[in-house]
Amino acid sequence: MTTTDSRTRSLIDVDVLEYHRLLTPEQQEKLAEIRAALAEIVTPHVAEAWSRDEFPHEIARRVGELGYNHISGMTEDPLFRGHLMAELARADISLSVYFALHNDLVGATLEALGSEEQKQTWLPGLYAMEYTGCFALTEPEHGSDVAGGMATTARREGDEWVINGAKRWIGNGTMSRIAIVWARDEEDDQVKGFIVETDTPGYEATKIEHKTAVKIVQNADITFTDVRIPAENKLEKANTFADTNVILLGSRNGLGWQAVGAQQGILDAARRYALERTQFGRPIAGHQLVQSLLVQIAANLAATLGMAHRAVQLEAAGEVSMTQASLVKLKTSQMCRESAALGRQMMGGNGILADVGLGRFFCDVEAIFTYEGTYEVNSLIVGRGLTGHSAFL
Ligand SMILES: Cc1cc2nc3c(=O)[nH]c(=O)nc-3n(C[C@H](O)[C@H](O)[C@H](O)COP(=O)(O)OP(=O)(O)OC[C@H]3O[C@@H](n4cnc5c(N)ncnc54)[C@H](O)[C@@H]3O)c2cc1C
Repeated sequence: MTTTDSRTRSLIDVDVLEYHRLLTPEQQEKLAEIRAALAEIVTPHVAEAWSRDEFPHEIARRVGELGYNHISGMTEDPLFRGHLMAELARADISLSVYFALHNDLVGATLEALGSEEQKQTWLPGLYAMEYTGCFALTEPEHGSDVAGGMATTARREGDEWVINGAKRWIGNGTMSRIAIVWARDEEDDQVKGFIVETDTPGYEATKIEHKTAVKIVQNADITFTDVRIPAENKLEKANTFADTNVILLGSRNGLGWQAVGAQQGILDAARRYALERTQFGRPIAGHQLVQSLLVQIAANLAATLGMAHRAVQLEAAGEVSMTQASLVKLKTSQMCRESAALGRQMMGGNGILADVGLGRFFCDVEAIFTYEGTYEVNSLIVGRGLTGHSAFL
């Protein structure tokens, strides 16, 4: 029997609890425009680039022109900004990673920790997309324990800093004009931030090959061999690891929106397929077990939206803590991962395809689950907040 619930039939979007109605009518309209533009610019072409591990420069340029080149210039409303980031992840997770790096890590670091001169030098070109940057924190031997274990060093020599060491997994690393590099000052042992121009002698970036997630993002191994930069390229306000955490708190807290967008994309594709695919003489959408899979994804999405909204409220009030950001990150990325598996399962064999199926999302959510702190590391942060006991060691 087909549904007679007119309210259900009128659902135009996968946002069952209608969170989008918390936006103004103008914002909802703009969001619909952006969604339509992304469906034209990104959706038909992106799987090809993804399958070839290539960065689609022309697609990224056109996405940038929609306002993603400088998202905080597009809106000052953090809730709308969250929905905008979700729309991009809904079209493609890799591109949302690229623009999150561009805006939330590189742009945000320069804005929050740079001097006025550093901002004037680097932000206009960054936001005009004349170039992009990367954020180099993780190291080959220090991922989760990078705060205490960072081995990359910076040494002050006259009016220069000399950087030595290695970084790993650095998104945009092979195609950036500047790198925000975190290194331990040999003199006071504190982690400091530096702007390194990537054509400086001694800087070498090598693409990490054979990735199976966010394949469009060009992640790199970077080595620094006596890289000499002018003293004025030290980020003015990046003097301890706590300063890095200011940036990571914001980006981690915003990650829920990437999980929202990914699940919107997953539910879009799964619902469409369920309505189109016929087995045993009826659309598979009419089979109870198929509906159960769709409902689980929709429920995960609604829960993720709730957490992402609350995270934005806390951040806007200037009250978000790392415990809260970690809880949002670990749970939303876990639900996202589950939704990708359910959607892929629901689409049968076609589910593993990168273009018409959910193969791309299925692989890409593994990256969301891992970066900005793994599930375990974020659990330890929340556990410490709940109990007062640190269980890291
Ligand atoms: C696609 C992608 C993009 C990335 N982009 C960037 C980037 O642009 N810039 C950047 O600086 N970094 C980036 N990263 C790095 C990312 O932040 C790290 O991968 C992440 O912090 C985990 O570090 P690791 O991979 O070295 O794993 P490890 O730290 O080696 O962890 C391995 C396993 O051990 C577990 N573990 C570690 N410590 C504990 C503990 N105390 N208790 C229990 N379990 C523990 C972890 O949870 C994990 O399961 C990226 C990573 C990926 C995959």
